[in-house]
Amino acid sequence: MITYLDVEDLLDFRSAKQPIISLYLNVDGSRVSHDQQKVFSKNLVREGRKIIEAESYEIEVRTRLQSDLDKIEKYLSDELAPGLTYRGLAVFACQEAGMWRVFQLPRPVPSSLFIEESAHIRPLTLILDEYHRFGVLLLGKTQAELYDVYIGEIIKVDQTFTATPVVSKSPAAVDGPGSGDRGQSRHSEEEMQKHFRHAADVLFHQFHRRHYEYLVLGGQQQVLAQFENFLHPTLKENIAGRFSAEPGKTRTAKILEEVSLIERKVETKTEKLLVKKLVNTALGRGLAVLGMDNVLTALQVGAVHMLLVEDGWHTEGSICRNCGFFGVKLETCPGCKKEMSQLTDMVDEVIESSIKTGSIIEHVHSQAGLAEHGHIGAILRFHI
Ligand SMILES: [Zn+2]
Repeated sequence: MITYLDVEDLLDFRSAKQPIISLYLNVDGSRVSHDQQKVFSKNLVREGRKIIEAESYEIEVRTRLQSDLDKIEKYLSDELAPGLTYRGLAVFACQEAGMWRVFQLPRPVPSSLFIEESAHIRPLTLILDEYHRFGVLLLGKTQAELYDVYIGEIIKVDQTFTATPVVSKSPAAVDGPGSGDRGQSRHSEEEMQKHFRHAADVLFHQFHRRHYEYLVLGGQQQVLAQFENFLHPTLKENIAGRFSAEPGKTRTAKILEEVSLIERKVETKTEKLLVKKLVNTALGRGLAVLGMDNVLTALQVGAVHMLLVEDGWHTEGSICRNCGFFGVKLETCPGCKKEMSQLTDMVDEVIESSIKTGSIIEHVHSQAGLAEHGHIGAILRFHI
């Protein structure tokens, strides 16, 4: 799965002469059939060959570009198969720089090919923007573990939490109730507080260092409640959820499952707020529009700041291949009077066009409240 580090890594590639080929392919089986994927991939490679022919590259550069395209073509023909588990594919190649990177993406991307000086990364950053980075702290009375959860992946952070190794005490004393010795339990209480303070400190630093957007705490309810007193206020505000766990025992698959439930809740909440803001602004005649017709109008004048679209929603539309005009079920282009081509899925065109004009794309779930308002809407840069 892709991360921001991968994107930075892509941008680090530099070659003296040969440009970088960036290829994106929509392999979302629910929208594009396997046969269509094959056709699109062939078309992209052909488009690439045309570009290479048309540009005045040195022979050496041209040969390398062609060989990169051969490699991409071979890769796609081997890789594309019915029932892929991912929805987008990105390939970057530059023989001169020793670059060959393939990313399987959790979201569909508009199929496109770029031959540019640096890797074309915008579709990747758009995907990354839709995911949240979670820091997950599993906390016990004497132990703690920190995990990174991002785009369905979990990684344990190499971080020791043993600020005060408790070696001389019996586990009963360390674990609090049960030990009859008051002096010892007060001592263990102090050790526990020290441990909490240290864990809170580590968490504060890692939160900023690792760019976490949200925190999730795992542990016994009572332990977590006590621990939260030690947390920095900004971190407290970013707690997205809690679940029952035990450091050293709870398995990563279980942690991931709990966090994805919490992430879904956070997402739904954020999306509902965003849709509410969009609808209120549009109804109040502010900088927002609702419905495909209005979105298309906004898009054609470059007014779309953020496009909100219901995930999985499709609708028919028409496009003028001559001047690029979009419309809903139009036979003749209002601009150039040419015949319009009919599209089975207008949404893809709209997303693609929004990406080209630098808009932010937000896919919202069907429960976010956009369905009642035309399934699609846009926050505008200026009044239209
Ligand atoms: Zn036209």
